[in-house]
Amino acid sequence: MLDFIYHMPTKIYAGEEIVRKQSKLLSNYGNKALIITGKHSAKANGALKDVVAALESCNIIYTIFDKIEENPSTETVEEAAVLGRAEEVDFIVAIGGGSPLDAAKAIGVMIYHKNLTGDTLFSKEILTSIPIIAIPTTSGTGSEVTPYAIITDHYAKTKRNLGQRIFPQIAFLDARYNSYMPDKVTLDTALDAMNHLVESYLSKKSNIMTEMFVEKGLTLWKECIPAMLKKEFPLSVREKLMMTSTFAGIAIAQTGTSLPHGMGYSITYFKGISHGIANTVLYPGYLNSFKDKTKIQNILSIIGVDTIDDFCELLKQLVMQKVTLTDEEIKTWSKNFYHQKEKLKNHLEVVTEEDIYNIYKNIL
Ligand code: NAP
Ligand code: FE
Repeated sequence: MLDFIYHMPTKIYAGEEIVRKQSKLLSNYGNKALIITGKHSAKANGALKDVVAALESCNIIYTIFDKIEENPSTETVEEAAVLGRAEEVDFIVAIGGGSPLDAAKAIGVMIYHKNLTGDTLFSKEILTSIPIIAIPTTSGTGSEVTPYAIITDHYAKTKRNLGQRIFPQIAFLDARYNSYMPDKVTLDTALDAMNHLVESYLSKKSNIMTEMFVEKGLTLWKECIPAMLKKEFPLSVREKLMMTSTFAGIAIAQTGTSLPHGMGYSITYFKGISHGIANTVLYPGYLNSFKDKTKIQNILSIIGVDTIDDFCELLKQLVMQKVTLTDEEIKTWSKNFYHQKEKLKNHLEVVTEEDIYNIYKNIL
């Protein structure tokens, strides 16, 4: 029975030199921009240079904040928002992986709502942001087309979704920027994109629209497997990984993610393991925990493997880092996670605290 709402308002412009070709669009958002980036990559991969040239061609004044760290914190977001307020910027251009893109959404909310601080950022009210233009330079999070912003809350000792629905106004996709990613970042982020596809498909909210994006995304991801195993990434492969990530973002924008994402945050926060790996290592336990494996079989057949074990064997080759957890960590995190009922509600089957424990225990 059909029963869904589909809403993805971000305009997507894709192609080589797309920022230069579409620079006039920036004039629609005001006269003053705040550029948000990570510490190095936006300068090295040419994206910052292209954005500056595009803004200058429209006579838009800009300020650069280039201090966003991986897994951005409320403190850094607040520092950037204070700058943006002082400069009275009209909109944000965010360049980078999920960290700068997510941070930009939180910063945009704080610039719009001048009284918000890092401490009151996770407000339950529905808040607005100034416009965001997103330029992804990794192929993993899909943040350029999702309404989510994952921010590290050191007070709560975890990463949390901001709780607001902030879709960027525009996503500019140019795979040339992604060509500078080191192999590890390429694989970690490609795993995150695959996680989004799988978790969206296995969500209660999965529907005919999201499944269309998931099936195409998994097909593209499968086509990149030989390149990922050889760690050879020509532009044609970069473009496929980029579209995998954006399709996955469009899917999770509707369905949300599921158990591995919620459970992986503790692995990232306490062990410093990258986001894509933190989720992927939970896949043997996650996939095997399903009593009804019909939908999992569909995923395996698109990927071109016969069994969950074969799939996990492939994942093992793509995870470039060993993760080990102590029994004490597993017990504490299982208890904490099990009490976040919000995170369990999209899962197709009933989950117990023991199921959560076993997923952590059967780590890849
Ligand atoms: P990231 O944390 O944004 O960046 C990881 C590393 O890659 C950084 O060192 C960064 O360097 C570097 N990098 C980025 N682009 C590069 C390029 N083109 N060439 C070379 N290096 C590059 O990584 P991410 O995996 O994309 O984002 C992870 C974050 O997104 C996590 O906080 C995760 O929770 C969140 N996330 C959000 C969503 C969502 O829907 N919003 C979904 C999933 C995950 P610089 O610091 O120098 O830029
Ligand atoms: Fe993710």
